[in-house]
Amino acid sequence: MSNVSDNRRMALEIENLVVEYRTHEGTVHALNGLDLYIEKGKTLGLVGETGAGKTTAGLSVLRLVPDPPGVIVDGAIKLNGETIFDKTDKEMESIRGKAVSMIFQDPMTSLNPVFTVEDQIAEVIERHEQLTKEESYVKAREMLELVGIPGTRGGEYPHQFSGGMKQRVVIAIALACSPSVLIADEPTTALDVTIQAQVLEMMKGLREKYDTSMLMITHDLGIVAEICDSVSVIYAGRVIEHGDLEDVFDNTRHPYTEGLFNSLPNLQDRQSRLKPIQGLMPDPRDLPTGCPFHPRCDYAKDICSKERPPKTYRNERHYVECHLYNSENIVEGKVINR
Ligand code: SF4
Repeated sequence: MSNVSDNRRMALEIENLVVEYRTHEGTVHALNGLDLYIEKGKTLGLVGETGAGKTTAGLSVLRLVPDPPGVIVDGAIKLNGETIFDKTDKEMESIRGKAVSMIFQDPMTSLNPVFTVEDQIAEVIERHEQLTKEESYVKAREMLELVGIPGTRGGEYPHQFSGGMKQRVVIAIALACSPSVLIADEPTTALDVTIQAQVLEMMKGLREKYDTSMLMITHDLGIVAEICDSVSVIYAGRVIEHGDLEDVFDNTRHPYTEGLFNSLPNLQDRQSRLKPIQGLMPDPRDLPTGCPFHPRCDYAKDICSKERPPKTYRNERHYVECHLYNSENIVEGKVINR
């Protein structure tokens, strides 16, 4: 499944996942053979532009791709070694929140405005743990304290909290039953920068406390540098470069990853202009043939529009899907210079 031999160390493995949304306007090819894995206790950053398939990947792990119009056409997902596509709907209900939880970008999509925050945390605890109602409320208040909110505020409603505090409540709900895998979908994008940093710092601490493996879905390479152990760069529903953080950041190989780095502001050199990646993400209803990045790529050659590039490994964990590389030149031969 992955290039790492000991699969027992894997918290999450996704292999060749193909997901489509079949709409009146045509078939949206959201994921096109996605491979992804997270080792136990580690954090993987799934990075890419809007529309690359990041959220669909997260929803697939919870088996929450809306059906219809979503269809899982092919592939496998294993959570702690168990295949989730074999589970009944009832089994999935107990897996969600207990084995795997998801935090969404907008806390208001996760919080119910008519219940107090402690009601909402306690409800999850009661559903998954052998605790009485009273014990669940005690634990709910403890969870609030853990995310930096006084337990005495548990009886308040979501609208009485700021955006950052609401996201802390959502994190408390997600971690209430100590899930082994936490999927965080742009969890700080809706927050202002100082609050973002606080929430990220808190997530780092909690991840260590609970030994949680995390899938951090983001478009922000700064967040990846801050919190992730490894990185998967996604483009048009496929991982086109994957590796440990240092490999992807210091030995970038794929032109798209290169473009993501070049479009970051350089604080040391304020005179230099940002270089956004030319062109737009392809229409997922009509993806280009061959390498899906070829219409935007400065290095494209003939083969790029004809054949999808295979994975070429630079080391046991770092690979790239790009025709510029073969097993000889990928290690030291930097075809692209940063
Ligand atoms: Fe560019 Fe070709 Fe590599 Fe795709 S395969 S990223 S088009 S060089």
